[in-house]
Amino acid sequence: MQLTVIGYWGGFPNAGEATSGYLFESNGFRLLIDCGSAVLSKLQETISIDQLDAVVLSHYHHDHVADIGPLQYGCYVTALIHNKKKTLPIYGHDLDQAAFQKLTYKDATIGVVYKEKEALSIGPFSITFLKTTHPAPCFAMKITDMKSTVIYTADTSYQENFIPFSTNADLLIAECSLYAHQDGTSAGHMNSREVGHIAQEAQVKQLLLTHLPHYGDHADLIAQANEQYKGKINLASTGFVWNSED
Ligand code: ZN
Repeated sequence: MQLTVIGYWGGFPNAGEATSGYLFESNGFRLLIDCGSAVLSKLQETISIDQLDAVVLSHYHHDHVADIGPLQYGCYVTALIHNKKKTLPIYGHDLDQAAFQKLTYKDATIGVVYKEKEALSIGPFSITFLKTTHPAPCFAMKITDMKSTVIYTADTSYQENFIPFSTNADLLIAECSLYAHQDGTSAGHMNSREVGHIAQEAQVKQLLLTHLPHYGDHADLIAQANEQYKGKINLASTGFVWNSED
């Protein structure tokens, strides 16, 4: 399995970069998880639009779905230009019906519901979900291709059940919106100390900090997480690549 970070900013993108977007590849299949602002542009630095096989969305906040509309136009226009019919499935929860309905556009994209308690099979991937603590309904994901396993926390404040959910994962992609001294409980976000605690208790092989804040020194996030977790920690960045062999 290979992961490429397309975007990693929380809230809004810095100039020339994107908010949440993560490309997973296995066996030639290409799955995009979350599609925030500027993700469609940055995605095309790695693959073309018609190479995308499926999209899964954690929740319907702008920094995770802003580029769904442009992606739908992209699929529609690309199909016309190349005279190739392909309907891109976009998986989302239906706890917000109005948002879910928007995932279907002409025959370019089709919205498909996922359920918290049901494993989802997409190409070589199997995905299971965990409801997070966030102002909008949101789901963390365990993504496996049967050879390796990656956890994506999506947006959440600290929950104890992330520890069993993440145990022994090859990679934990954790939202780290806040520095250690900040409490994200009411905002629905985690700080660096909480993320490090989950990584340590779950004994994950690597930790990737993402959904990063627009202030402070990101190197402090690593140092603070490292006080809890002794394994390898990276900061997400545009084009960052992780392979299951790493
Ligand atoms: Zn959110």
